[in-house]
Amino acid sequence: MLRRPDYVVWMLREAPDGVVGGAFLVLLDQFDAAPVQGGCEACGVLPAMAFALPNQAVIVRLCTDCASTGDGGGLVRIDGFWGALAHIEATLVRGRRLGLRRIIRSLALAKGAPRRLTENAALRFFGQAPARPSRPQPLGSTHHDGNPLSRR
Ligand SMILES: [Zn+2]
Repeated sequence: MLRRPDYVVWMLREAPDGVVGGAFLVLLDQFDAAPVQGGCEACGVLPAMAFALPNQAVIVRLCTDCASTGDGGGLVRIDGFWGALAHIEATLVRGRRLGLRRIIRSLALAKGAPRRLTENAALRFFGQAPARPSRPQPLGSTHHDGNPLSRR
């Protein structure tokens, strides 16, 4: 889902009531429920939310204060998967499929997903992996305290 969000969108639009579609919806709910990690990239004080600039497929983590007073360049709050999709479809003229992949990946990272997205890492992010204490943490992974999806 994180690698091929365009496929997820296609599937949900073609067969929203199917078994696969239902499974995707569960994942999407979990994805959207995961909070953006860490503090605002600008002030470093207030908790961050996900924003994107029009025509850009990169998430910036800002607090609402900095987002409104910052460069004021039309930052758009991205609430989750569908918000990201709407952003891409509304502002990207070309390369939407790639843009969707990039923004979902960027949003996933902002939500604390591991940078190296192996199958196991993705499952862990979605809180479905069986606990394996012996497995070392992937490099660069951060601790996500307060993230209900990161429990092991
Ligand atoms: Zn801030």
